[in-house]
Amino acid sequence: MKDHLETAPVIDAVRNQGVCPFCQLREMVEKQTVERYLGGSVMEPDIRIRTNAVGFCRNHHQLLMAQKDYHGYALMMQTRLRTVAEQLTPAVKGIAGISLFGQKNASALQRQLAESTGRCLICENMADTVSRYMDIFMKLYRESAPFRADYERGSGVCLYDLPLLIQKAQTHLMPAQRKDFMATLSRQMTASLGTAQEDLDALCSSFHYGSEHKNNPRIHEALERAVNLLRGKTF
Ligand SMILES: [Zn+2]
Ligand SMILES: [Zn+2]
Repeated sequence: MKDHLETAPVIDAVRNQGVCPFCQLREMVEKQTVERYLGGSVMEPDIRIRTNAVGFCRNHHQLLMAQKDYHGYALMMQTRLRTVAEQLTPAVKGIAGISLFGQKNASALQRQLAESTGRCLICENMADTVSRYMDIFMKLYRESAPFRADYERGSGVCLYDLPLLIQKAQTHLMPAQRKDFMATLSRQMTASLGTAQEDLDALCSSFHYGSEHKNNPRIHEALERAVNLLRGKTF
């Protein structure tokens, strides 16, 4: 299959079983994006325009700070803050008149705040890239029998990635293949939910005095696995 650079991460993620492949890909994209924004590209005009306009969520500000590139981060935030300040100045000045004009001014301020500070460039980049990787996943699933076999041996995906994967299968796969895909996915998700529950039950029992579950290998990272299944890779 051509486009090796694009397909290789998807093939690797599917082969690396036990963690949702799209969570693995998301984590990879997140790491690359955080490093890129604070690498040499901090001064690249098109990246600068986007970081100024969109900004970052709390989680990604923490990751950016953890890079310890304080000079690059400060430069990026200098122009980001200036952009937000310019956007918000009229609405902020309007706060003084909110008690006079009531709800109208307050909701205009809320809308402006949401537009100026409610987005995250890294989150948006991760979502776009994972969506593109799902398209590649579907192409591989359609065209490669070994890839299908690798995928079918795995335990499916997390509940966070499940809805988009179903949507992609509906648009990318022909009816017969789609039927097989959905049957496999349903089997995988049923098994994953059952296993996660049993593992967590064993972990909770292990806290009881004299429990037989103290040395049960199932309890190892059962809590992390349950959260990762529910919310996407968190731990
Ligand atoms: Zn996932
Ligand atoms: Zn974010």
